[in-house]
Amino acid sequence: MTGETPGLATILIGDDPASAVYVAAKRRACGEAGIRSFHHELAASAGRDEVHGLIDRLNRDPRVSGILCQLPLPPHLDPAETTNRIAPDKDVDGLTVASAGRLAVGLDGLRPCTPSGVMHLLEDAGVELRGALAVVLGRSNLFGKPMAQMLLAADATVVACHRRTPDLPGLCRQADVLVAAVGRPALVQADWVKPGAAVIDVGINRTPSSPGLVGDVDFEAVAPVAGAITPVPGGVGPMTIACLLRNTLQAARTTSG
Ligand code: NAD
Repeated sequence: MTGETPGLATILIGDDPASAVYVAAKRRACGEAGIRSFHHELAASAGRDEVHGLIDRLNRDPRVSGILCQLPLPPHLDPAETTNRIAPDKDVDGLTVASAGRLAVGLDGLRPCTPSGVMHLLEDAGVELRGALAVVLGRSNLFGKPMAQMLLAADATVVACHRRTPDLPGLCRQADVLVAAVGRPALVQADWVKPGAAVIDVGINRTPSSPGLVGDVDFEAVAPVAGAITPVPGGVGPMTIACLLRNTLQAARTTSG
């Protein structure tokens, strides 16, 4: 313990309503956990220099242990360049090239929050990963790629799928662990799931009809087949926030020496 209060800086650029909801939830969680929150909102028209200038100031600010720049960004800003402006030891989203490289080669570091949350859920449910076949739907830098690497590091055999993968249902049916993160409402149906498999639904899809927010898995149909399954909302989402808080604490310990 250092005696310093950890601080999380959040940057919200533009007026995407879902991003505003996510950032508000993260700030609320900081308050509940005793982490200081430094929030910055920039207009959708904010230029590259303005965004980089803000990140540079936060990189130097000793009160700020971690920096989160909410994605997606307005189209004129490059998400990779913007994310990589964040100092690696304040990269609490775990999305910089430095953090991704440390994960890829198995060094300690700040890990992306959502796949970290999934690993906690699997561990908590007692799912044996060693030797298991894990199928990950989606290969984004934000989720799919780090998820596949974490499962591989836990000795699972991993199949990383994407929109060009043939016979998704057939592959999924072999999975002991099935993780869906594609952003397609109810893509995963009961006949895609091996009886007893652990099914993790990362998708968050807004639909015009009730219930509004749904995942990538048809929960009602799949639940009777799966050995364990996460709901949407209320499954992976809260774990993402919990891991963000944990990363902020970890960063505070590192940055305060
Ligand atoms: P993304 O759009 O960057 O990536 C989607 C991936 O899915 C791509 O790799 C694409 O090839 C693949 N894909 C798309 N359609 C497919 C199909 N029909 N079959 C197979 N693969 C397909 O998205 P992302 O940022 O990785 O997010 C994925 C989903 O997870 C979204 O719904 C997002 O809202 C959600 N998400 C949730 C959390 C959380 O905290 N719960 C965090 C991050 C993302």
